[in-house]
Amino acid sequence: MAQQEEVFKKLVSHCKEYGFVFPSSEIYDGLGAVYDYGQNGVELKNNIKKYWWDSMTLLNDNVVGIDSAIFMHPTIWKASGHVDAFNDPLIDNKDSKKRYRADVLIEEQLAKYDDKIDKEVEKAAKKFGNTFDEQKFRETNPRVLENEAKKAELHTRFATALNDNNLEELRQIIVDYEIVCPISGTRNWTEVRQFNLMFATEMGSTADGALKIYLRPETAQGIFVNFLNVQKSGRMKIPFGIAQIGKAFRNEIVARQFIFRMREFEQMEMQFFVRPGEELQWFEKWKQTRIQWHKALGLGDKKYRFHDHDKLAHYANAATDIEFEMPFGFKEVEGIHSRTDFDLSSHEKFSGKKIQYFDPELNKSYTPYVIETSIGVDRMFLSVLAASYCEEELEGGDTRVVLKLPPALAPVKLAILPLVKKDGLPEKALEIMNNLKFEFHCQYDEKDSIGKRYRRQDAIGTPYCITIDHDSLTDNQVTIRHRDTMQQERVPIADLETIVREKVNMKNLLKIKN
Ligand code: ATP
Repeated sequence: MAQQEEVFKKLVSHCKEYGFVFPSSEIYDGLGAVYDYGQNGVELKNNIKKYWWDSMTLLNDNVVGIDSAIFMHPTIWKASGHVDAFNDPLIDNKDSKKRYRADVLIEEQLAKYDDKIDKEVEKAAKKFGNTFDEQKFRETNPRVLENEAKKAELHTRFATALNDNNLEELRQIIVDYEIVCPISGTRNWTEVRQFNLMFATEMGSTADGALKIYLRPETAQGIFVNFLNVQKSGRMKIPFGIAQIGKAFRNEIVARQFIFRMREFEQMEMQFFVRPGEELQWFEKWKQTRIQWHKALGLGDKKYRFHDHDKLAHYANAATDIEFEMPFGFKEVEGIHSRTDFDLSSHEKFSGKKIQYFDPELNKSYTPYVIETSIGVDRMFLSVLAASYCEEELEGGDTRVVLKLPPALAPVKLAILPLVKKDGLPEKALEIMNNLKFEFHCQYDEKDSIGKRYRRQDAIGTPYCITIDHDSLTDNQVTIRHRDTMQQERVPIADLETIVREKVNMKNLLKIKN
């Protein structure tokens, strides 16, 4: 774990050094859990959003997009349940004065049992070598079974406390399991309290009677309140979906893991409207579609798992998370929820407007049920970076840091490097760039040695570098270098467009079916 934390630290500083992510307001010492994306970060982020947007709206002819406002009528948040129930249970350590989410402290305790089990398995695998039967070991080893039993016991107690909204019991669990504050190391805890995560502000001048409004904590409600607009104007037939990408805001109690938990972040959400009774079928379908979308990136299938919710939100009848193995363990990147007809019914009730769908095949009206897929852009960004970050030892004792990003997501696709700054090589290089820049994000670099320039491109994950040398002026060929293998080959300038396109085209990702 310590080694993983080390990697995470390096990743955070890499992000800053290479223009991916900066702390917000840094010259004023920053602002808690708010970050800015730099010149390379914004490109990677935009590519992630495009991959999601295209997979939703191009691959599904019954999914359309919208872009709703961040400010919305405050009653929307009453109807959605956020005013009354969008709370996290918080607890303070009296010695360190640090604040924690009680549920997260307990989840970390649960994860410790998994760590212990994994260590036993790892040890045994080393000892028994090829003859090791992992499944049998997990089913029979006394230490594994003991840890499984302890985990199950804690899990049941935790799930019950969450479902009963029993804050005293949450605290009691923390006390009974002797969970300590990671900063002070003590168990001097306050009571557990509920804390609402919405940011509020005022709209209009106070003289007119200002309206208390909220910064949206999710983009989904903007979709629900536009259900009728989209359905009618697009003549949409159920089943159909509405997708949206946009900022969301949550006053997170604990925000310590870089861009994993931010107070201002971005979501990509899709609400899929279906006939009542068919929702669980569609839930399964979207689970599979979404996990395929993740796996198509080629970051490693083993890095993903589903995690079903212990406590269903007030609106859901099924829910699962797609978790990704971050440097700090498996963590939620996306939630898939079967939200029943809760939202549309509730908006019908609070707004007094009928929000129903007339189904011509069934010849009746009903309130559609909803499957939601909700993924955080920033968490996705972090997972892509974490899985791509590699430190490699090279022949001759040299090392390099390379981001093995999926080529379609890379901020720069092609670096164009004249071998020297004279003899007409820069002009030739710029001529190539001016041909290719309409389709690919190219970067021209003539400073420092070729080796140094390669390293700079490796560090930002550029799939291809081309070098223009003196021969290029006469034979119209360049040397192309592949990021991951570092292999170089001579290719005609006329072929570059096809070579690069084949590797970096988003279409390649969208076409992958697992
Ligand atoms: P968590 O349990 O980690 O707080 P959540 O279950 O509240 O997350 P959802 O409400 O399901 O999250 O939001 C959907 C997605 O939005 C999450 O899977 C995550 O990727 C992203 N997300 C939620 N909160 C944040 C945050 N504070 N910072 C960055 N991304 C977030």
